[in-house]
Amino acid sequence: HVGDERAASIPRYVRVNANLSSQEKVIEDLTSRGFVLSDPWASKQGFSLDPHVPNLLCFSPEVAFHEDQLYTSGKIILQDKASCFPAIVLSPPASDDAVVIDATSAPGNKTSHLSALMENKGTLYAFERDQKRFSTLKTMLNKAGCRNVTPINADFLTIDPLDPKYSKATHILLDPSCSGSGIVNRLDYLVESGSSFFTSFVQLMLIKRSFVPLLDTDDAVDEARLSKLAAFQLLMVQHAMKFPNVKRIVYSTCSVHEIEDEHVVQNALESSEAQSGKFGLAPQTTCIPTWPRRGKADAMKTPSHAMSLIRCLPGEDATNGFFVSCFVKASDTGVLTK
Ligand code: SAM
Repeated sequence: HVGDERAASIPRYVRVNANLSSQEKVIEDLTSRGFVLSDPWASKQGFSLDPHVPNLLCFSPEVAFHEDQLYTSGKIILQDKASCFPAIVLSPPASDDAVVIDATSAPGNKTSHLSALMENKGTLYAFERDQKRFSTLKTMLNKAGCRNVTPINADFLTIDPLDPKYSKATHILLDPSCSGSGIVNRLDYLVESGSSFFTSFVQLMLIKRSFVPLLDTDDAVDEARLSKLAAFQLLMVQHAMKFPNVKRIVYSTCSVHEIEDEHVVQNALESSEAQSGKFGLAPQTTCIPTWPRRGKADAMKTPSHAMSLIRCLPGEDATNGFFVSCFVKASDTGVLTK
């Protein structure tokens, strides 16, 4: 099946968790067990360094790490390459007085990535609305040695941007619920979400029939559901723009639908929150400039704005489908506002 072919074209990505180890130490451990820095597609022993994401290793998709001691000890995190982009683009500060927000955190892959980029310093408030997923988040953060994270079981939309605790936030990551239409290796996705391998497998079997058509035929897409999701996503971006000291907001989805991606960005740019907060899009130079697939130009009012946006296409880019955008204050250099 075409969905399975796309999944098979995605390497097994392993992110080194800098909170608990280093790339050097992980490579040393792996090579002592027979892995070699070489083409991961040529053999199960081969692995390479990803050219876009620091601390990311690429293996053959056949290699499983779920029982490996590097994984069980939290030194490595199994995270798709595209889902590493948001934290890198947000580029949070690594200082004791840094205040950063992850608005939609569970299961916590991006939260732990942000924590590592902040060198476990400052404060990272990690909101999660769902109680069950919040408990998964806490387990994940604990396992990943994230000492600078304060997890909060709350709806981000109810958080007062002027609350002195949060008003100092300068960087916000928004990776809200979406249709998930870009996910092709759902099994990995569920494992990353905190399910056991067996539960994930059963879930995969149950959802496969309803999920795959969403990827393959636009006719099957539930337009009403997508519009509802897009309205919620826009609200989240607008809320993030109300934080008085925020300089940078990254909005990402694992959806391939324009309505959840470029359209949300375009509507956010035109909203009163963006106008009064003087937000525009960060230039391509700060959004993984060497990544070739950019946003859809015909979906933006100013087509050149699409160069600021990142898209990943399953089956083409060796990743799941993904979208990343970055809003910055117009006072920053190079920001695109018109
Ligand atoms: N960033 C996460 C990661 O990389 O592991 C994945 C986030 S997942 C796509 C979206 C999460 O946002 C879900 O766990 C969902 O329960 C949570 N969520 C949705 N709406 C929310 C809200 N208004 N406030 C806080 N969390 C919310």
